[in-house]
Amino acid sequence: MQVVRQAATVLTCDPAQPGALGVLTGVAIALDSGRITWIGPDEEAPDGEVLDATGCVVLPGLVDCHTHLVWAGDRADEFRRRLAGESYTSLLEAGGGILSTVRATRAASEADLVELATARLKAMRARGVTTVEVKSGYGLEPATEARMLRAAHRAGEASGVRVVGTFLGAHAVPAEWRHDRAGYVRQVIREQLPAVAPWASAIDVYVDRGAFTVEEGREILAAGRAAGLAVRVHAEQVAFTGIAAVAAELGAISADHLERIDAVGIAALARAGTVAVLLPAAMLYLRDPPPPVEALRAAGVPLAVATDYNPGSSPAGDLWVAATLSMIAMGLTVEEAVLGITRNAARALGRPELGQIRVGGPADLVLVAPPAGFPATAAGLLQPLGGQQVRAVVGG
Ligand SMILES: [Zn+2]
Repeated sequence: MQVVRQAATVLTCDPAQPGALGVLTGVAIALDSGRITWIGPDEEAPDGEVLDATGCVVLPGLVDCHTHLVWAGDRADEFRRRLAGESYTSLLEAGGGILSTVRATRAASEADLVELATARLKAMRARGVTTVEVKSGYGLEPATEARMLRAAHRAGEASGVRVVGTFLGAHAVPAEWRHDRAGYVRQVIREQLPAVAPWASAIDVYVDRGAFTVEEGREILAAGRAAGLAVRVHAEQVAFTGIAAVAAELGAISADHLERIDAVGIAALARAGTVAVLLPAAMLYLRDPPPPVEALRAAGVPLAVATDYNPGSSPAGDLWVAATLSMIAMGLTVEEAVLGITRNAARALGRPELGQIRVGGPADLVLVAPPAGFPATAAGLLQPLGGQQVRAVVGG
């Protein structure tokens, strides 16, 4: 048995506990056989191996619910071109952007992809992240799409991170299908989907200017749903398309980005209980406007925050940084930011048992101190941009 003791603050994120974040103080937490078995006054803590949380905030293991972290190659030159004024959409249309990562990823072996993804996941776990969603979408043909998700799961095992796979064959139209989009959509549905099925729990599409249309997105999402996958969507990012409302009608568990969502889309998300996944690093790298957080909040749409970790539009794998950016660049509250990387992120993955600290739940938590001089509270932890000191990570 392990016992977490002397924590300054425990943010359980359990709605049964006090306040928005379920804050407890003066408590110890006992962990046994992968479960949380006891939470009570520190002075009554049972015997066991002590995890000393002096000066720390204890939170659920963080959940990064939107990443593209299996990739090969890099896009550092493209970064220079974007700084010089080229747009993301024009680079994509010229065969750059996602398509340049597709060429490099297709050329990489599974062992190479596992090695790269393992290094990225280990760095995330060292920051307290125990669950990471990983999308395919740099293969855009059956074998590489499957290889990416298999590599993601193997990297998860090698790094001690719980990996949740999402199939994103409709990430971009590959060069060889440029003149037969309908043919590519057929391949996604008939060939890629069965090939990736063992490693995916959700399907996703990128509907946008320069990517897929609403009609194509609807057809692909419906096919994934019929195959038993949960529905997720990259929606209303560069241009408004209306796909968020369509995905909500298909029962989507999340709609992600949403910088340009309208009132109809927001109402549809609220009705369906779809989680809005906000990706502040991508928003800043692409110089997009912030999503309408006040309207989403007013409609009661649950908010999650993720890194969108990828080599082009969001080369930013630190979920603490994403959480802080969600407040300063998008207007989330401290409580929304904490729930966004814990309980609501777990919900966006259809894994509601994660992202909370409660008796009977998984032994999955992080002991973390703020940078020197900041208080060991939710605000003290998230006000600084990076620099949190992770003392211990359990679970994943
Ligand atoms: Zn993405």
